[in-house]
Amino acid sequence: MSVQEIYDARHGEKGAYIAGATGDWELIIGMEVHAQISSKAKLFSGSPADYGGEPNEHVSLVDAAMPGMLPVINEFCVAQAVRTGLGLKAQINLRSVFDRKNYFYPDLPQGYQISQFTFPIVGRGEVRVDLPNGDVRIVRIERLHLEQDAGKSLHDQHPSMSYVDLNRSGVALMEIVSQPDIRTAEEATLYLEKLRTILRYLGTCDGNMQEGSMRADINVSVRKPGGPLGTRCEIKNVNSMRFIRQAIEYEARRQIEIIEEGGAVRQETRLYDQVKGETRSMRSKEESHDYRYFPDPDLLPLELTQNWVDEIASSLPELPDAKKTRFMSEYGLSAYDAGILVAERETAQFFEQVAKGRDAKIAANWVITNLYGALNEAGLSIENSPVTAASLGRLLDLLADQTLSSRLAKDVFEIMFATGGDPEAIVAERGLKQVTDTGAIDAAIDAVMAANPDKAAEVKAGKDKLLGWFVGQVMKSTGGKANPQMLNDALRQKFGL
Ligand code: MN
Repeated sequence: MSVQEIYDARHGEKGAYIAGATGDWELIIGMEVHAQISSKAKLFSGSPADYGGEPNEHVSLVDAAMPGMLPVINEFCVAQAVRTGLGLKAQINLRSVFDRKNYFYPDLPQGYQISQFTFPIVGRGEVRVDLPNGDVRIVRIERLHLEQDAGKSLHDQHPSMSYVDLNRSGVALMEIVSQPDIRTAEEATLYLEKLRTILRYLGTCDGNMQEGSMRADINVSVRKPGGPLGTRCEIKNVNSMRFIRQAIEYEARRQIEIIEEGGAVRQETRLYDQVKGETRSMRSKEESHDYRYFPDPDLLPLELTQNWVDEIASSLPELPDAKKTRFMSEYGLSAYDAGILVAERETAQFFEQVAKGRDAKIAANWVITNLYGALNEAGLSIENSPVTAASLGRLLDLLADQTLSSRLAKDVFEIMFATGGDPEAIVAERGLKQVTDTGAIDAAIDAVMAANPDKAAEVKAGKDKLLGWFVGQVMKSTGGKANPQMLNDALRQKFGL
């Protein structure tokens, strides 16, 4: 049995199905993700591919489709596509062909998009998605092809006119097409998150959904469990994880209702309305022949050598799946903790710096719980963390050598996070060193006992529940700095317990 079959068998349980009036329905989802390639220049021109800029600032004659202009392929963008294909464990096609995909849009001055149709640069691959219940979903990748982005129409700048901004026109995109292997709205977002993680590790796309660097078209259909596939609808250009989930859930309900009322789902392209929380029809789905694809006569077929591909392969970083496995075996972390730490390359690197030569589980716990908590609250990313990996490591050293109790270490961490200071300096300046001198602890206990003779007598008489009260009092009198273990031991000894 393949992993996929095992997973499908388990999902035969009712949990993954949607209950309708006529029984259970199974959701079938495939995704087409447009990922903008991280590169300085566009796919066929030397204009900057940066986000933003004044309207029409990054537009060359090629991008504006002036007559007679010729596209010239950007080798770096091709390398990025190959790199991505390798990261998706996909087949790299040494020969691929650019086609013209013809359609009219005011923001598409060529009247066609240069894309790849019959012969894409990357063939079949896969993405491994770890589900919260420990199961693994393998989402097969059908293909990845290179294409140009279009410009942008601006409808809100003038009361009666629309403007066109061609800055994005010609920017390199990778369209990554999955098989319909996704079964729930949650899996769809987990797939997209995993894909984004891989692209970021590879440095081939920044994955910034707000800026439109990653946009998802979602194909949704429903069927009776195990039955034939239903008619699908495509929801276009959804650009946030939350909206993806909402759009899929709404669309599944809509299709189930249509079928259960005796109707038929129409194959079409739909838009998700974020304000109303519903999908609505945009256009009936065009077939590929409507685009009149044909090889672009301005561009030769793209021929790569195996050597060049191998060179790129040898420069790939350790990818998240491999890193997660290594974190589990090398550091003894749980799958859950390892999964969190490898979600971003920077975080994984930060963790490894902290863990080096120290207790890795304690390091993982501090990064995940304390550091992430503080970063989240402050709205900061790990690159901008006021606490560096080196200083967090030294804080853990103070914890390990008993200079600090875990409570004091948390206090010191808070000060480090607020001020960016060194742990040793903070401990010295604020006198936060924990008291491990048994004489000092004994003296503090004696003082509390002398001030509360009745309570001390009760403990001696066997009421050891009051022991906690004494711990609290001594902690108070030492400013929370008494070593908790030593304090407990000393108290028990005093009371003969
Ligand atoms: Mn496309």
